[in-house]
Amino acid sequence: MAFEGLTERLQNAVKKLRGKGKISESDLRDTMREIRLALLEADVNFDVVKDFVKVVRERAIGANVLEGLNPAQQIVKIVNEELTRMMGEEDAPLLKSPKIPTIIMMVGLQGAGKTTTVGKLANKLKTDANARPLMIAADVYRPAAIDQLQQVGNQIDVPVFQMGTDVDPVEIVKQGLAQAETNHNDYVFIDTAGRLQIDEQLMDELARIKALANPTEILLVVDAMTGQNAVATAEGFDNQLDVTGVVLTKLDGDTRGGAALSIRAVTGKPIKFVGEGEKMTDMDIFHPDRMASRILGMGDMLSLIERTQKEYDEKQAAELNEKIRENSFDFNDFLDQMEQIQKMGPMDQLMKMIPGMANNPALANANMDPKDMEHVKAVIYSMTAKEREDPDLLNPSRRRRIAAGSGRPIQEVNRMIKQFNQMKKMMNQVSKGNMSGIENLMGN
Ligand code: GDP
Repeated sequence: MAFEGLTERLQNAVKKLRGKGKISESDLRDTMREIRLALLEADVNFDVVKDFVKVVRERAIGANVLEGLNPAQQIVKIVNEELTRMMGEEDAPLLKSPKIPTIIMMVGLQGAGKTTTVGKLANKLKTDANARPLMIAADVYRPAAIDQLQQVGNQIDVPVFQMGTDVDPVEIVKQGLAQAETNHNDYVFIDTAGRLQIDEQLMDELARIKALANPTEILLVVDAMTGQNAVATAEGFDNQLDVTGVVLTKLDGDTRGGAALSIRAVTGKPIKFVGEGEKMTDMDIFHPDRMASRILGMGDMLSLIERTQKEYDEKQAAELNEKIRENSFDFNDFLDQMEQIQKMGPMDQLMKMIPGMANNPALANANMDPKDMEHVKAVIYSMTAKEREDPDLLNPSRRRRIAAGSGRPIQEVNRMIKQFNQMKKMMNQVSKGNMSGIENLMGN
């Protein structure tokens, strides 16, 4: 999972301050040094790190962190805010042209995930906004690229315009756009060719396509796994084509995360989406604030809830949010959530979006066997309706009855109830944006 090392190191940097009522200047210096090393280790751009550390340090001094209560919490808060700022602060939604079609040109190196991302975006627009996209196959150098786009098209039921590999890509785009006009497609995606490295011929071709199509968006697809190279690639493409945004793919992989943290700061261009898997639904809107929370190991409850929402109606989702906020989340909700989550998989990826779980050592050994989920369910099903609504009722004799009823050992029942209570508490704190609970979230 992305950011694992960074999360751990940032947590460790701050952990040392925990419990200190006051910290000395040298404590602050040490913490800042560790934060700096953590970011460099995560492959964040050197200049970006330098600025970041400077700002956090100045803010910490300005806020009188040394004098104040709970310096560790205050520093986490500042780091969280500055990480968010570094990644762009606001979400950057997909632009829409005032007249149809909205043309989206996708560019990037070979293997970055362009074709996959074209499919994911077209699929998202189709399912979320009832759009009628057309995808143009303009990579004529790899015959397999056209087949691949066509397969994606079949899978998501979106038409593909192609003219084989013997035609100039600019001509293909021209005719593709004409077809989109005839068929009243409201979005057109242009899947362009990639290379292993940026080269002049490719840039020239892309510039000609840009001049012809006058796209609303030029989205650069970069592979997060390539670290600093992703940043250099982004700069290269942006200099030549003036891209409108970035899609960062393969964040589900074992990336150190530096690209996510540097691209915005270096290029000034927003990250709009992140790819988190190979499936057509494995893509999320990039939210800088949520990503910052995730990096700090505070989980990404909102994205988790949103994923769940896809299976839910809005009312249910709003009720769930409300319950978390009011701290009245009970075992019925838990059961509901588990059932939704089971539909969503993969389990370990989802678990890491839960606050406190991202870097929880327990998770490393946790067996995400679906059987375990069934056991948890069996325990909940053995509770009475009242107990499910009011977990505080669960005294030892009730717990013994539940253990017998579910056929699970009493220790397991106890453990599960304890975990439920912890999770409930953490979700409540995060939902309120309440930083006072932060030390619990930091793996206390
Ligand atoms: P293109 O050459 O830029 O068009 O790249 P492709 O779309 O063909 O993707 C290259 C490989 O990366 C394929 O095997 C994709 O399945 C995979 N891929 C793309 N996006 C993601 C992602 O977000 N996560 C993971 N794990 N794999 C991805």
